[in-house]
Amino acid sequence: MEPPIEPDESDCCNSGCNPCILDVYEEQLRKYKQRTSSLITKNNCISLTSYAIFKLINIEKHWKQTFLFTFEYCGPQKGEPKVDASLLYKPGQHFLMKGKTYDEEFTRAYTPIPIENQSDLQFTTLIKLYEYGVMSRYLKKISIGRETLWRGPYGDFTINYDIQHMLLIAQGTGLAPLYSIAYDIVNNDECCTFLKLFFCCKDSNSIYLREQLYKLSTYWNFSYEVFLSESQGISPKYNEIIHPKKLRCDEIETYLKDKHKSVNILICGSENFMEDIKKHVLRSSVAEEDVFTF
Ligand SMILES: Cc1cc2nc3c(=O)[nH]c(=O)nc-3n(C[C@H](O)[C@H](O)[C@H](O)COP(=O)(O)OP(=O)(O)OC[C@H]3O[C@@H](n4cnc5c(N)ncnc54)[C@H](O)[C@@H]3O)c2cc1C
Repeated sequence: MEPPIEPDESDCCNSGCNPCILDVYEEQLRKYKQRTSSLITKNNCISLTSYAIFKLINIEKHWKQTFLFTFEYCGPQKGEPKVDASLLYKPGQHFLMKGKTYDEEFTRAYTPIPIENQSDLQFTTLIKLYEYGVMSRYLKKISIGRETLWRGPYGDFTINYDIQHMLLIAQGTGLAPLYSIAYDIVNNDECCTFLKLFFCCKDSNSIYLREQLYKLSTYWNFSYEVFLSESQGISPKYNEIIHPKKLRCDEIETYLKDKHKSVNILICGSENFMEDIKKHVLRSSVAEEDVFTF
C-alpha cells in the first residue's frame, strides 16, 4: 500500500469545497497510517529465519483427500521474551512446515487462507494429501494437539489496490493464495477492483472452498466460473457457472477484451498449468509485468 501524495497548498482552490483536497489527503493519510501501524508495531509470531511452534487444533475433511488443517501459536518458548504477538502475513503469502520422522526431516510450503472471526494467533490451510507424498503421510498421522514447526511468511506478491480488473486463474489447491487475495480485496471498502476467478478442477465435487466462493460472489466486485476437466456428473449449486470443459484461450481472450492495460492476471496451479495459461495470456497482448505466477 503506497502512502497518499501530499497536495500542495496551491492545489486548494479556496472555494470552500466539501471535502477540500487537503481534507481528503488528511483522511487518506490517517487510513494509511492505521493500516500500516498494525504491521509495524505488532510482533509477528512466525519468523522468516527460525521455526515457531504451532499446535494442530482442528482437522476438517473438505473433500476426499483434501482437508482444512488449523494451527495455533504455542507462545514463546523457554528463554524467549514474552511479547504481544500476532500472526502477520500478506494475502497470497505462504509458510513452510517442517515435518520429521525418526530418520528424516522435510519441508513443504502451505498457504494460509482467511477464516472469518479466526484468532490472530491461528491459521488454516487447505491441504491435499497424496498417497506417496512424504509430508502427506506425516500429516495423515498427526493428531489434534500435536506441536508442529512453521516459518515464514514467504512470497513477494503485493496487491495493486488501484488496478481496475484482476483475473485470477487457479487449479486445485492453487486456489488458496488467490482466494486469500480475493477475500482481502472484497473486504477492503476503499478498493474498487473488479475480480474474476476462473477455477479449474476435475469435477463438481472437487470445487474447493465452494461455500466460501459463493459468499465472495455476493460482493458486487467478485464473480467466478468453474471449468471441469471431467464433465460427467455436473451438479451446480447456487448460481454457479460451471463449464463442462477445460479452460481454453478463447475464454481468457473474451474476458481480456478491452482490459489489456488495466488488468493484473494471477495464476496458481501446477508448473505445467501456470506455464500453459501464461502463454495463452501473453498471446492476448497483456504486458508480462501484469502477469503473476505463484
Ligand atoms: C508456494 C507454494 C504453496 C503451496 N501451498 C499449498 C497449499 O496451500 N495446499 C496444498 O495442498 N499444497 C500446497 N503446496 C504444495 C505442497 O507444498 C506440497 O508439494 C504437497 O503437499 C505435496 O507434498 P508431499 O511431501 O506430500 O509430496 P512429495 O513427497 O513432495 O511428492 C511425492 C508424490 O506425491 C504426489 N504429488 C505431490 N505433489 C503433487 C501435486 N501437486 N500434484 C499431483 N501429485 C503430487 C506425486 O505422486 C509425487 O511424486 C504449495 C506449494 C508451493 C510451492
